[in-house]
Amino acid sequence: MDMFTREILDELAVPVGGKPEPVLAKEIRLGFEQAVAGNKTRPILEFFARLTELSRERGIGPQDLGLTKDELEKLAAKHEEIDEHGVTLGGRLGQARPIVQTANDRVAEYIAKKDQEAPSGIQLWERVLENQARIMAALGMSKTDWPSYEGQLRHRIDDVATLAKCIELPAGAIAEVTRVTKNYRMRLTPYYASLIMPGEVNDPVLLQSVPTAEMVDNQGVELPPVASDHSPARLVDQFYPRVLTIKATNMCAMYCTHCLRIAHIGKHDQVYGKEAYSEALEYIRGNDLIRDVLITGGDAFALPNKHLAWLLAELDSIDHVKVKRLGTRIPVTAPMRVDEELLDILEASDERGPVRVVTQINTAQEITPTSATAFRKISRRVTAVMNQAVLLRGINDNRIKMWKLCETIQEAHVRPYYVFNCSYRNPQYAHMRVPLSVGQDIIESMYGNISGDAIPRYIATAGGKVPLHRSNVVKVENGMITLKKPWSGEEAVYPDADSKLYGHDEDFAFMRHAG
Ligand SMILES: *Cc1c(COP(=O)(O)O)cnc(C)c1O
Ligand code: SF4
Repeated sequence: MDMFTREILDELAVPVGGKPEPVLAKEIRLGFEQAVAGNKTRPILEFFARLTELSRERGIGPQDLGLTKDELEKLAAKHEEIDEHGVTLGGRLGQARPIVQTANDRVAEYIAKKDQEAPSGIQLWERVLENQARIMAALGMSKTDWPSYEGQLRHRIDDVATLAKCIELPAGAIAEVTRVTKNYRMRLTPYYASLIMPGEVNDPVLLQSVPTAEMVDNQGVELPPVASDHSPARLVDQFYPRVLTIKATNMCAMYCTHCLRIAHIGKHDQVYGKEAYSEALEYIRGNDLIRDVLITGGDAFALPNKHLAWLLAELDSIDHVKVKRLGTRIPVTAPMRVDEELLDILEASDERGPVRVVTQINTAQEITPTSATAFRKISRRVTAVMNQAVLLRGINDNRIKMWKLCETIQEAHVRPYYVFNCSYRNPQYAHMRVPLSVGQDIIESMYGNISGDAIPRYIATAGGKVPLHRSNVVKVENGMITLKKPWSGEEAVYPDADSKLYGHDEDFAFMRHAG
């Protein structure tokens, strides 16, 4: 018998002298008999949990209930015999269950608030459908316009008068948006506009898509895009030896109010000629270090299917290009774009070498049954679907919103990949930025509390992507590492690899026998 079980039995062995009512004594005796007769651990655990509770809370001990020490010991031993891994009653009841309870307490606030504070578009679907009906009527869209990408683009909202027909805006806000859109592009698909919840002053979808006065009023000087000194060839941006991006278009179905590529997006949609792509492809063909090519924009899915198929086939014809990434927000802003033809193109390229679709979802609200279906379909045809969120004030800048985002997208077949700090290069976005300490707290708080593969990496874009995670290594001394657990702050001492062994390759494994 282990010491944890001994502790439980010793506690129960102290005579307490309570007076149980006969019906209670009967109930306990029945519980005992069932636990003895059965072949399950759970009735044994529950029986002992009940005994402990009665002794602590009502001063009724096993003796008072007519149970002998011997009976209890035999039953405790039975637990260990039944369990495949020989787990003892004390280990399970006295140790493991309280540990699970402590872990549960860490997520209690999240569980209580997540659906109120950060509802997903799936949870809001009834209201989204009401918005949809209102917007369709306001824009004169037909039932066939709505589910078609062309219909969505034809009815796109790109001026404030149209926007005001679709969503209720205070007069002051209309004047403000009018002023800002003289300088900055606004565009929403009717679908994306239907995700804006009426009555929410700073709705997170509204904040992402409708520019506010800060964009022109913020002080500061815009730094030229990093790309201007990192563009070794037409349409190409390159920071790294083996990865580069092709800015394949400047178009997006929706323009984000925090767009990192604002300079590239410009004021007008542009269609690039074949010679621009040919120069980018020639550069890649001539540089055999490049193995990973990101097709970005703008939005890669803004390219027509034919065009995308051609570009992927060109890349697949280059031997040293092993993997391709497509950067797109369209499954979030206009999921009807994801048609069978597009899926076939993605799959055909994935057959030739891994394709990863990299999207941007910033709130759980952006995951609706429609976008979740689009992501599920894409995930069936490509190697991975990953998310790069941007940490934005009022949108996803607390634990509850970010945890909910990460869990919701994971359930929608999308893997959290990066969380970016909002760009410092554009004063337009200064009001949307979130301090490092807040970002670190949000990301670190996920460790140990949600699935490891729902935890993104926290990144600053500073001429390349630089991790912003907190270090959990407190110190290293005499080969011992002191670690801090992100979820409890508790320290753990963890031995490093033995330096007397590592590095001495002359006696490593089969080397001892080498001639
Ligand atoms: C983001 C980006 C990459 C890709 O970075 P990963 O860390 O590999 O995701 C590569 N090149 C440029 C220019 C980029 O902006
Ligand atoms: S989808 Fe990307 S490129 Fe397009 S506006 Fe948003 S952040 Fe900018």
